[in-house]
Amino acid sequence: MIGVGDMVLLEPLSEDSFINNLKKRFDHSEIYTYIGSVVVSINPYRPLPIYSPEKVEEYRNRNFYELSPHIFSLSDEAYRSLRDQDKDQCILITGESGAGKTEASKLVMSYVAAVCGKGAEVNQVKEQLLQSNPVLEAFGNAKTVRNDNSSRFVKKMLWQKLTPMTLSLDLLEKSRVVKQPRGERNFHIFYQILSGASEDMLNKLKLERDFSRYNYLSLDSARVNGVDDAVNFRTVRNAMQIVGFMDHETQSILEVVAAVLKLGNIEFKPESRVNGLDESKIKDKNELKEICELTGIDQSVLERAFSFRTVEAKQEKVSTTLNVAQAQTKVRKKVMGVLDIYGFEIFEDNSFEQFIINYCNEKLQQIFIELTLKEEQEEYIREDIEWTHIEYFNNAIICDLIENNQTGILAMLDEECLRPGTVTDDTFLEKLNQVCATHQHFESRMSKCSRFLNDTSLPHSCFRIQHYAGKVMYQVEGFVDKNNDLLYRDLSQAMWKANHSLIKALFPEGNPAKINLKRPPTAGSQFKASVATLMKNLQTKNPNYIRCIKPNDKKAAHIFNEALVCHQVRYLGLLENVRVRRAGYAFRQPYELCLERYKMLCKQTWPHWRGPARAGVEVLFNELEIPKEEYSFGRSKIFIRNPRTLFKLEDLRKQ
Ligand code: ATP
Ligand code: MG
Repeated sequence: MIGVGDMVLLEPLSEDSFINNLKKRFDHSEIYTYIGSVVVSINPYRPLPIYSPEKVEEYRNRNFYELSPHIFSLSDEAYRSLRDQDKDQCILITGESGAGKTEASKLVMSYVAAVCGKGAEVNQVKEQLLQSNPVLEAFGNAKTVRNDNSSRFVKKMLWQKLTPMTLSLDLLEKSRVVKQPRGERNFHIFYQILSGASEDMLNKLKLERDFSRYNYLSLDSARVNGVDDAVNFRTVRNAMQIVGFMDHETQSILEVVAAVLKLGNIEFKPESRVNGLDESKIKDKNELKEICELTGIDQSVLERAFSFRTVEAKQEKVSTTLNVAQAQTKVRKKVMGVLDIYGFEIFEDNSFEQFIINYCNEKLQQIFIELTLKEEQEEYIREDIEWTHIEYFNNAIICDLIENNQTGILAMLDEECLRPGTVTDDTFLEKLNQVCATHQHFESRMSKCSRFLNDTSLPHSCFRIQHYAGKVMYQVEGFVDKNNDLLYRDLSQAMWKANHSLIKALFPEGNPAKINLKRPPTAGSQFKASVATLMKNLQTKNPNYIRCIKPNDKKAAHIFNEALVCHQVRYLGLLENVRVRRAGYAFRQPYELCLERYKMLCKQTWPHWRGPARAGVEVLFNELEIPKEEYSFGRSKIFIRNPRTLFKLEDLRKQ
């Protein structure tokens, strides 16, 4: 074993020793380390030969601590608990953008797929689930500054009993379709189509191969190193087939994608008032004509819908993609869920999207805190062992700053969006300043009583939140618009009239028979509701954690930046995690296993102990003269306080 495989056994325990241990193991290609049952994973940024079918066999049905730490071990543990104990499981993967969450989720899935049920039907479902990855990533991932394949949505995978069940996507960063930050790309699928489609297909989709023809495709970073969009397009098409799309369905999805790209090219010119209404005219009708041909929308209908309120038209284009990606099934039986979300993000310019993404991460950290403590406490209670409390930084206060129903930032944003009169991003910021000025985790310069009046690093148009993972400054510009996320009725009605079954299905609200005069919920409140449902759901499951760490900011192999790792170790609360594990008792083991392993150290228990295992362990520990205060007897397990005791036992075995 390189270094210490389980941080709980690290002696002495300090931030330095913790980081050193991680580094030592990382330098020897050992990217996984445990904290009890939590797996800490460091992104190696290079392929490692540790995921082969042989490895799967090695980890199958083995005890967590028997082999060197591995993500397969956690996968196996979760899977067996589901199978044998019928307990709902969830695998929570956290860490900042680029830390390796999505890769980890795929590894868990491929492990479970390899070991779970057999038979032709199951195999087909498994294959479909695995093949869903390239499809999901094409429509939901994009190159960002932090990660060439960054997830821009939340992915939940559910396995019911021994069969993969369903996949659901949520909370897509849809604004990316119309605008990408500098150095970033739009969703992969757009580049893939243009690079990989045959001439014939491009003609059918009325597209041109040249990226520069499309306003929605950023040019400065159109190509990603080491990524072949054309090859990936073939993979995606193939995967779509396996996943179960019929050819005509794939075709209509691609038509929608093409139409979205072309919508971005429509430009408007202002016109004087006609019939008392603000109107704008479309400059070049050719693009519009082609969109209508692709989507079967009547050109005059679409043009009319566009002629009022150009701004809203822009937002409409976006929502189609969200719906294309949606696929949700209700689940009732015992399940195992794998949750892969977008990681915590700090950019130079952070907007509503980062605010939402970071809120989601904040909530996930909160559930980690609640469940780790809860689980630990419950184990002590279950086993009748006394429990000592450990201080943790609890980020509930930050969650509250964002989501409190009265005074939370989201509530105030909603209030502003729904208020009659002139509403701007500035009036929103003013409101924030009134309500949040004294909150410990909120910083801005506008408010008179602000502690940050002289902080010139904080522009007047920004506010800063001290998140659990660091300070992030948010540009307030665009918050109101993005939160409103309005799709005007003319547009949804125009879409619903399309002679294109997919598009029609995507805009059910456009059906005049189903007119709903209520204002649709804001983006922020939808997000909050989704997150709340997610958290509620997670709370009912047995959690398994993978904590991902990014070793450097260069996306490079072999580089371990200690300061960067240290920052993550701190905010992830990993040291506290070890302390909680060790508070009281660092190590616990069922009596049977303990006796089996150490019975050779005592004449009375060797070679066979006749009697209850617990009594055997008692005899054994007495004989070895282990101080009484060093251990406690639980109902089913022996609890050992100090790792040194365990080392002593291990040493004795080796003698
Ligand atoms: P985001 O929050 O942006 O979605 P993420 O945490 O999901 O980020 P990944 O996409 O999983 O990050 O990882 C980023 C890149 O790091 C991958 O594309 C891959 O190149 C590399 N990587 C991650 N994990 C591994 C691994 N176990 N082995 C080899 N390479 C890896
Ligand atoms: Mg990801």
